[in-house]
Amino acid sequence: MLLKGARLATFDPPRVDEADLRVEGERIVERGRPLASRSGEDVLELEGAVVMPGLVNAHTHLYSALARGMPGPASAPRSFVEILQRVWWKLDRALDAESVRLSGLVGAIEAARSGTTMLIDHHSSPSFIRGSLGALQGALEEVGLRSALCYEVTDRNGREGRDLGIEENVTFARERATALARGLVGAHASFTLGDESLEMLARAVSDTGSSLHIHVAEDRADVDDCRARHGGGTIIERLDRFGLLASRALLAHCVHLSPEEIQVAHAKGCWIAHNPRSNMNNAVGYAPTAALRRAALGTDGMDGDMLAEARAACLKMPTSWSSTTGRPPSCTATTSPAISSSVSTAATCARSWWRGDGRCATGAWPGWTRRRSSRAPATPPATCGRGWPRSSRGGEAR
Ligand SMILES: [Zn+2]
Repeated sequence: MLLKGARLATFDPPRVDEADLRVEGERIVERGRPLASRSGEDVLELEGAVVMPGLVNAHTHLYSALARGMPGPASAPRSFVEILQRVWWKLDRALDAESVRLSGLVGAIEAARSGTTMLIDHHSSPSFIRGSLGALQGALEEVGLRSALCYEVTDRNGREGRDLGIEENVTFARERATALARGLVGAHASFTLGDESLEMLARAVSDTGSSLHIHVAEDRADVDDCRARHGGGTIIERLDRFGLLASRALLAHCVHLSPEEIQVAHAKGCWIAHNPRSNMNNAVGYAPTAALRRAALGTDGMDGDMLAEARAACLKMPTSWSSTTGRPPSCTATTSPAISSSVSTAATCARSWWRGDGRCATGAWPGWTRRRSSRAPATPPATCGRGWPRSSRGGEAR
């Protein structure tokens, strides 16, 4: 296939060129301008479009797509835990096989239209656990996206729900990996997991050779619970006691970790998924972005638009830095290692499981997407919870 006439955009270092690309099988094999088409070759005319490496959403909940238009709870949540109890834990309990599949389709299409070609999803559907990851996988592969999927293990649905969640993670990681999908071991958060459950999760990680994907210190309540019920220590110390801070573990949020705790997590080889819009929307505080190194951006179910997420992170960054370092930077793409390289670090994070190197260059794996450069869509409002309602985007991708 020959891609002709597009602007090629790469992020690390930032660069825009005009060139044609030839793709054969899974590789970009030639780059130049102009490249002559060969007999019988598919030619895609891309005048006016931007071709860029596919973006990676490092932490999302596809089932959140179904919350759009959903009426709010009868009484307004007064805390983060009440948001979970009155909104998300009601929605996830209502999910069945068909709604899980449809949420995957909606999320995948939206992601593709925003230039996102890989999703790391954290799924929960307590009334439909066994087979739920396969249902999501089917939807994502129908759209053609790559994914790393896991089921969110928790004690809140009793022992049976917990055990089924672990089984779903293990079965999927062992048996359902394909060219487009991988399995991780999902866990909700320290405050809904007892010691026995953490032990079982550690065993599942070891048995599958995979890694943990868990919410960490998203809200102060998670930190306080750990101190009160688990010997006065921190969540990082608790996870480490069970050997769960292994290489490639993905820790979502980390809003209430100290820079020292983040350093420990990084030293253990963990990735941190930073979710700026969700954190602001839930009013849980904001991650100490100045301390983040192995960090990648996630939308936490707000939508699939990583450029909107990066923009929000960049705008929030000055206040976040000034509160942690006393050194307020301007909001430019070069001042925060965590944010300026969010796209490329997400690609690096994704390479923990996938090939591809985030370049539009010869030899690269073309996880690229196409966006119309002439139609810059307005950012629709995100109003509540992980974000609803949302309107459709104007971008075009393939
Ligand atoms: Zn989340």
